[in-house]
Amino acid sequence: MDRFTHLDWPFLDPLHAPLARAVDTWACANLEHAHGADADAICRKLVKDLGKAGYLNYCVSETPDVRSIALIREVLAYHAGLADFSFAMQGLGSGVIVLAGSEAQKKNYLPRVAAGEAIAAFALSEPDAGSDVQAMTASAKRKGAHWALEGTKAWISNGGIADFYVTFARAEEGISAFIVEARDVDASERIEIVAPHPMATVKYHGAKAQLVGEAGQGLKLALRNLDVFRTTVGAAALGFARRALDEALARVKARRMFGQRLADLQMTQAKLADMATAIEAGALLTYRAAWLRDVRKQRVTREAAMAKMQATEAAQQVIDDAVQLLGGLGVLRGQPVERLYREVRALRIYEGATEVQKVIIARELLK
Ligand SMILES: Cc1cc2nc3c(=O)[nH]c(=O)nc-3n(C[C@H](O)[C@H](O)[C@H](O)COP(=O)(O)OP(=O)(O)OC[C@H]3O[C@@H](n4cnc5c(N)ncnc54)[C@H](O)[C@@H]3O)c2cc1C
Repeated sequence: MDRFTHLDWPFLDPLHAPLARAVDTWACANLEHAHGADADAICRKLVKDLGKAGYLNYCVSETPDVRSIALIREVLAYHAGLADFSFAMQGLGSGVIVLAGSEAQKKNYLPRVAAGEAIAAFALSEPDAGSDVQAMTASAKRKGAHWALEGTKAWISNGGIADFYVTFARAEEGISAFIVEARDVDASERIEIVAPHPMATVKYHGAKAQLVGEAGQGLKLALRNLDVFRTTVGAAALGFARRALDEALARVKARRMFGQRLADLQMTQAKLADMATAIEAGALLTYRAAWLRDVRKQRVTREAAMAKMQATEAAQQVIDDAVQLLGGLGVLRGQPVERLYREVRALRIYEGATEVQKVIIARELLK
């Protein structure tokens, strides 16, 4: 199946197809080193390489084009999960500065993030405040021209390698957004997850912080930022799922059993049909949400939630089917589908778990 059939869908403009193909060519030439045990070193290099190639400009933009970000994520995820991760985190980690930073903050951080010279992190979750973000207890107090932050942030991607952390904490006025330099936090407690990427628990002990935007507006900023990136998590899931389908197709055509190819057995064909259809459905929802936001300039709370939920849940199933079709090879350490099986899992949890997306969709329906 041509994984680029969606490039001529009406949701996309003529500039999108060449972009997706250029990223694909770049990824083929540059991502062999993007798999391995040392996720910190790999991601540091990936951020630099993505910056040099100019792709980070798409996710650090005053006028983000969600369709471009989604296509880049889809293509990067197809080739290497850490490449997608490094790309997306530069955008998520700097988005609040793009939305509400002062001119000085923008000038200081955004060009470096876009060039891949500074690594960004987004610190919202806490050990006791994940889905229930309002339960946040990290606090911020004014100290002259600056603020001082106290608290602990959990599951922070790029934790330990980031140059700065956009951090949310409770001030007198309500939840607010801050920039905290890496030297002012303790990110030494590293976290290892099923498909490792740089991650830490980040602790703030009177950490020096700069307010971003107005005090009390932090949660709104976080949600506006997530509004851009949530749809694109669906796109990353599509990239993983398309790779799994391609791996499965190659194997079932090559594997012989009972005097025929595995591909000739109807049970295999049924699986392949389900996999391809689930991917197309996820792509339709994902690029519709991106188009609504880019072209219709609409809030896409419901559509982004549907896209993220359907594409990530479908990708999990597609990848599981691919593992099954590969048999023992599907669980062999280092095989692409084995890697995908581990990489896809967290997408159903972060940036709003599936259950949270259901709550959002139902809330919009019942309005
Ligand atoms: C790989 C990874 C990277 C991450 N990166 C970051 C990052 O960079 N920055 C950051 O701030 N955070 C990050 N997170 C944290 C992520 O946002 C949280 O894990 C997520 O919000 C869920 O919170 P939790 O882990 O506390 O789970 P909980 O909130 O405890 O959720 C547990 C379960 O309860 C379910 N649930 C929630 N609401 C309802 C409901 N109304 N009804 C029924 N069930 C419900 C959830 O869906 C989930 O299944 C990351 C997490 C992971 C796994």
